[in-house]
Amino acid sequence: MTIETAPICKEHRIAKSWCKTTFEYSEDGIAVRVPNVYAWVCTLDGEASFTPETVDELITTVRELIEPAKRARQRRSGLTEYIVSVI
Ligand SMILES: [Zn+2]
Repeated sequence: MTIETAPICKEHRIAKSWCKTTFEYSEDGIAVRVPNVYAWVCTLDGEASFTPETVDELITTVRELIEPAKRARQRRSGLTEYIVSVI
C-alpha cells in the first residue's frame, strides 16, 4: 500500500483533505449520484480528486446503474429517482 500525500488545490493553493464526498455523473439526461465516496477534497469549494482505483469502481458502477434508468424512461415510468444501497 502506497502512502499518498495530499494534493494541492491549484486554485486555492491549500492541501486537500481526505474525506467523504458525493460523486455525481450525468449523461444523456440521466444523473447518477454516489454519496459517501472517499476522495481528496478542497475544503473551500468542495472540488474532489478521486483516486484511480475509486474512479475505476465508479465508472463500472455508474455504467451499470444508467441502464435501468434509461429503460424506465423508455417505458415512461413515473418513477424518476431511485436510491440503491448495499446493506
Ligand atoms: Zn480549492
